[in-house]
Amino acid sequence: MFSKKHGFFVLKKKYYIFVVCFLLVVSSVVVYFTAIRPTFMPKPVHTIVIDAGHGGKDGGAVGKTSDTSESFLNLQYSLTLGKICEEFGFKVIQTRSDMGGLYSPFAANKKRSEMEKRKEIIDKSSPDIVVSIHMNSYPSSEARGSQVYYANDSDTGKLLADSVQKTLFQNIEYSKNTAKVGDFYILNCTKMPAILVECGFLSNPEEESLLLEEEYKQKFCYNLFCGILKFYKNF
Ligand SMILES: [Zn+2]
Repeated sequence: MFSKKHGFFVLKKKYYIFVVCFLLVVSSVVVYFTAIRPTFMPKPVHTIVIDAGHGGKDGGAVGKTSDTSESFLNLQYSLTLGKICEEFGFKVIQTRSDMGGLYSPFAANKKRSEMEKRKEIIDKSSPDIVVSIHMNSYPSSEARGSQVYYANDSDTGKLLADSVQKTLFQNIEYSKNTAKVGDFYILNCTKMPAILVECGFLSNPEEESLLLEEEYKQKFCYNLFCGILKFYKNF
């Protein structure tokens, strides 16, 4: 590749084209990544509160065939979503990271105590967004599909909900195609964009077994995350 001329190593002519091509490829790759990264990578300062619904004595809904508690699945989905968010540079705050309840053991009204604790965690974290994870249940076992809710008076909550619902609809079978207004404490307790995601129905045996699958959980949480990213991109 090199020949010696006047004491210096000189590139042989036939290798010029190779070196020029190599430099072009390297510079294209550098330009591509520096140009693309900011459009789809969130800034590391983004903070998300992920709220696994229920916990402790409040197990939430129960699986039709497996007896799995909603609080357990909420936690699994929250931890998986949190891991994906962290991998993409988000700061993640989980309202709970085990099966314990968030209420004070001395509280007379455990539900109220638990909800106040969730609000306290959200207020302290000053997050950009709040995502609460739940599993649905309905008397008819026919009902199925994920549904995203937002607070009535929150325009940014609606944008986030629409973005997540649309992505779930496109990629997770049976997901609803329209986000809905939901009157939930976790959505009303903050001014930040907040959504509550009912990931699926534990009362539908087929959906219940899907929700319990590791592969389905990963796919679902990944798409939930993609919906969040699209919200940031358009916001
Ligand atoms: Zn629930």
